[in-house]
Amino acid sequence: MAQVIYGSEVSKDIRSELSEQIAALRASGRRMPKLAVILVGENPASLSYVTGKEKACTQVGMESELIKLPASTSQEELMAVVRRLNADPNVDGILCQLPLPDGLDSAQVIREIRPDKDVDGFHPINVGKLHLKEDGFVPCTPLGCMELLHRMGINPAGKRAVVLGRSNLVGAPVARLLLNENATVTICHSKTENLPQVCAEADILIAAVGRAKMVTADYVKEGAAVIDVGINRSAEGKLVGDVDFASVEPKAGFITPVPKGVGPMTITMLLKNTLKAYRQHEGE
Ligand code: NDP
Repeated sequence: MAQVIYGSEVSKDIRSELSEQIAALRASGRRMPKLAVILVGENPASLSYVTGKEKACTQVGMESELIKLPASTSQEELMAVVRRLNADPNVDGILCQLPLPDGLDSAQVIREIRPDKDVDGFHPINVGKLHLKEDGFVPCTPLGCMELLHRMGINPAGKRAVVLGRSNLVGAPVARLLLNENATVTICHSKTENLPQVCAEADILIAAVGRAKMVTADYVKEGAAVIDVGINRSAEGKLVGDVDFASVEPKAGFITPVPKGVGPMTITMLLKNTLKAYRQHEGE
């Protein structure tokens, strides 16, 4: 039977640590850390994500600003908003909620965000820093996965890690973080042959494929730590991960559930990144 690691619980602990740090800043009369979130258009999922991010900021005592723009916003108008936030000394973190409506170029927007305010860690400068093992901003979901591993008491050094998925958002950065912590890392994707056998060699298995319950017990080594990043809807409309929890849990050593696993960690890491940006801006 695996030990189930709830990101929701770990998140609570980290958020209360962040709240204490921000309360101490407030008590000493300091400027508050601030996150600016840009939402373009009316995508309901995006609206719910940004609402969650705003709520989390309020919960820890951080300031936030939501800039809602119509779907008809032009690329130049959007870039001008980013430039205004770049220049605002009270804004520490900027994120533009993706995906953008058709016709807008997200890569161009991300490149416009000042790297020291890029708390999503998507700017090429921050991507490069991750690969050079330099201090920068790392994407929030991969950071959340690493935090969960650490809280499981797992040191990746020397371990076999398999990352299922190679997206720029999750798979690639989490693989790099594992390598930076001296794991021996294999990255799998849709062209990988003998996928279950490759995954079954892993001491640490990170599933980020976006395929409901694809990872069954035959993908998992006895006692492995399994982190399920997937967020999928089952045929019955339930939220399910990439891991078939019922078959994997008896075999794994550690496992994260969906929901209440990696999901809550993502926003918590965004708060952490914003506080880090604040401290850098304050010269700490
Ligand atoms: P992408 O669709 O960008 O990437 C999926 C990756 O999985 C690709 O590398 C793809 O391979 C690979 N893949 C797809 N199907 C298979 C298959 N049958 N066998 C092997 N590999 C396969 O997804 P994301 O990385 O953005 O997200 C992955 C999952 O994580 C999704 O469920 C998403 O909702 C969730 N997610 C959760 C977050 C959270 O906060 N918990 C945050 C972000 C994402 P190839 O490159 O060859 O196409």
